[in-house]
Amino acid sequence: MGKMSQTSEPAVLERDHLQLLLDVLSKRGYRVLGPTVRDQAVAYDDLTSLADAPVGWTDEQNGGTYRLKKGADGALFGYAHGPTSWKKFLYPAEVRLWRAKTGADGFQIEEGPEEAGKFAFIGVRSCELHAIAIQDKVFLDGKFSDPVYKARRQDNFIVAVNCGHAGGTCFCASMNTGPKATFGFDLALTEVLDAKRHYFVVEVGTKQGAEVLDKLPHKAASAEEKAKAEGIVAEAARQMGRTMDTKGIKELLYRNYENPRWDDVAKRCLTCGNCTLVCPTCFCTTVEDATDLTGEHVERWRKLDSCFTMDFSYIHGGSIRSTGRSRYRQWMTHKLATWIDQFGTSGCVGCGRCITWCPVGIDITEETAAIRQSEKSKKGE
Ligand code: SF4
Ligand code: SF4
Repeated sequence: MGKMSQTSEPAVLERDHLQLLLDVLSKRGYRVLGPTVRDQAVAYDDLTSLADAPVGWTDEQNGGTYRLKKGADGALFGYAHGPTSWKKFLYPAEVRLWRAKTGADGFQIEEGPEEAGKFAFIGVRSCELHAIAIQDKVFLDGKFSDPVYKARRQDNFIVAVNCGHAGGTCFCASMNTGPKATFGFDLALTEVLDAKRHYFVVEVGTKQGAEVLDKLPHKAASAEEKAKAEGIVAEAARQMGRTMDTKGIKELLYRNYENPRWDDVAKRCLTCGNCTLVCPTCFCTTVEDATDLTGEHVERWRKLDSCFTMDFSYIHGGSIRSTGRSRYRQWMTHKLATWIDQFGTSGCVGCGRCITWCPVGIDITEETAAIRQSEKSKKGE
């Protein structure tokens, strides 16, 4: 997928023709992945038929709360997003790095995971495009690239969907990461449902996006259809449940390592690490070796880890972040401050997953606002 954005005037694709998009991508050798309903939540998985998509489902989200419910219409993308992100495919939770076996000829080492194949992602939201761009920076743009990520990222076809419904915990508008997709897609859809019609306004982002669109029955979008699509995205921005004040956020957190708010959040935080697992940009891992009982086979695995575990900051002699206070502070300060120094961008895209999927509803926007307010109170503002 190239990085250029919009190359031509928007087109219109009728709802009845959307299945053809999946079929065309399958025929081009892509593994088509998109939203499905699993365990009463929207989850990204294989999607060969739109019958498996969350047709007519929407969600209610708040701190520590997620519920799917049937919407009033047959929208395909009427939900915000669930706990899974595209990290599931681009940076899997468990990867075998290599394995070795002993035999008559000594050790034989088999390197690397199997071929990743080509992925087509259907329904990628703007905040998720930003999260992928952040992971590109981390895994591809530095001195060393990550071969697992590189193999999985290189042949993607991305169908973005502009949000028509903001989740209760979303704050992408205040992070400048949504709700409209502006880069990083091959095609971008805005779903329009009115009393008479159900259709998609389609923007083309790349040459391969244009080639795929050409295989589908479509027509140029009228001024009225374009205006409707724009109005839908504007409404999603207005509905956004939360905001993050990012002004001077890095310096704010650097000035407040000893703020009493860290003690307050530590009383509530279970240090379960859910926030790091659902976050589309978090990437900390550990490495584990395992042998079988014969002692003839050994494997090395890379597994997602979390800065909320004691082991994660273990160095000779003990863990340097032994309290919940220090672990939450590390996580939030990395996301919103040190990440900027490290990678030149915030580590947070405002998707709200860490708020929804925190079992006790700890809210990164509220914690930041509380620290900001405590400084103002000290100054008597
Ligand atoms: S820190 Fe929270 S809101 Fe920000 S990107 Fe991660 S999960 Fe989303
Ligand atoms: S902030 Fe919430 S999700 Fe994260 S570790 Fe603490 S309790 Fe778990």
